[in-house]
Amino acid sequence: MVYKRVILRRGKEESLKRFHPWVFSGAIERMDDVEEGDLVSVYSHEGEHIGNGHYQIGSIAVRILAFDDSEIDAAFFEQRLLAAYKMRQALGLIREDNNAFRLVHGEGDFLPGLVIDIYGHTAVMQAHSPGMHFARNLIADALTRLPDGLVKNVYYKSETTLPYKAHLDPQNAYIVGEYDQDVAMENGLQFHVDWLKGQKTGFFVDQRENRSLLEHYAQGRRVLNMFCYTGGFSFYALRGGAQLVHSVDSSAKAISLTDANVALNFPECDRHESFAVDAFKYLAEMEKDAYDLIILDPPAFAKHKTALKNALIGYRKLNVKAFEKIASGGILFTFSCSQAVNKEQFRLAVFSAAAIARRKVRILHQLTQPADHPINIYHPEGEYLKGLVLYVE
Ligand code: SAH
Repeated sequence: MVYKRVILRRGKEESLKRFHPWVFSGAIERMDDVEEGDLVSVYSHEGEHIGNGHYQIGSIAVRILAFDDSEIDAAFFEQRLLAAYKMRQALGLIREDNNAFRLVHGEGDFLPGLVIDIYGHTAVMQAHSPGMHFARNLIADALTRLPDGLVKNVYYKSETTLPYKAHLDPQNAYIVGEYDQDVAMENGLQFHVDWLKGQKTGFFVDQRENRSLLEHYAQGRRVLNMFCYTGGFSFYALRGGAQLVHSVDSSAKAISLTDANVALNFPECDRHESFAVDAFKYLAEMEKDAYDLIILDPPAFAKHKTALKNALIGYRKLNVKAFEKIASGGILFTFSCSQAVNKEQFRLAVFSAAAIARRKVRILHQLTQPADHPINIYHPEGEYLKGLVLYVE
C-alpha cells in the first residue's frame, strides 16, 4: 500500500535500514501534502521505499509501523496485537492469579506511539501519537478479538499523552464496554486499579518482578516503602513476613489507595501504617536505624535530556538520606524510571550517595523492566527502568 510520500535527504535512511523506527524532522527533504496523524510512505532520496508509518508535527516526524509496504488497517492491528498477546502468554503472565500486565509497550511491540495495559477484562489504552489516536477504534475493535475473550472493555485514556498542540481534544472514555470491576490480580495479590483518575494507566505493572524479589528479602524486616503510590511493594513485603511496613507518598489519594489495597489483601493487618508526607521531609525527620529494608521508587526526575543534571543530583540526595538512616545489615531497593538517565549515570549517582554517607555497600542485584515491557533491539531508547538492590553493612 502506498500512502502520501515523505522523501528523505540523501543518506538519512541509514538508521531506518537498521530498523530504528523514528524519522526525525531534520531528515526529511520534502513531502506530499501531509497532515498530522496521516499514514505516510517513507522513501530514500534515491526513491527506495523504506516503510509505512504515522506522521506527526514535531522532532520525531514519522514513527514507522511496517518496514515493508503493508497496509496499516484492521488486519494489521489484529495481527500485531495477537503477536503481543502470544508473547505475554509465553511469559506465563495470563493466569487466574495474575491478570494485570502490559499488552503493548510501544516500539517494544512494534507499535510506536501505543501503550495498552490489561486489568482483568479491561484494557486501558494510551495513544502517544496522533496517528494512534486516529486508529483508536480499529485498535479497540482488534482488542476485543483477542483469544479467550480476554478484553471486554476498552478505556481510552490519552488526555495527557497526546501532543497538546495537535488540538485533538481526546476525551478519556470507554470505547468498548463499560466499567465493570476495578480489582486486578498480580501474583495472587489483589489491587484496586483506578484507571479513571489514577496516574498513567492506573497501576505500575512494570515493578511486578522487582516486587517479587523484594518479597524474598522481607522476612522479619522493618520496611519503608517510599513513593508507594498504590502500595505495590508494601503487600509483597507483608506477604513476605515483614515485621512492619510503612508506606509513604505525598499524594493523599495514593495513600488511601494503598490503605484500601492492604485491607483487601490483609484484613485486620496491624503491621502496616501509611503516611501522606513529602519523601524528603520524611527521610530527614525519621530516626536512624528505624528500617532495615527501604524502597525508593520516585517518579521520573528527568522527563527530558535537559533536566538530566538536576535529576542526577536529585537521585544522589535521595539516596544519601536512605544510606545515612538505614540500619546496619539493611537492604536498599533503589530505582530510576527516567528514560533520560542511563544505567551508568544512575549507578554513579547511587555510588556517590553511598560514598557521601560513608557506608560499606555491595550490589546484590541489578534490576530492569520486566519482559512485558520489552525493548526492541533496534530501539535502545525503550530501556527506561533501572534498579539496584544494595546490602548496606
Ligand atoms: N512504587 C510505586 C510507583 C511509584 S510512582 C509502585 O510500585 O506502584 C511515584 C509516586 O511518587 C507517585 O505516587 C507520587 O505521588 C509520589 N511522589 C511524587 N513526589 C513525591 C514526593 N516529593 N514525596 C513523596 N511522594 C512523592
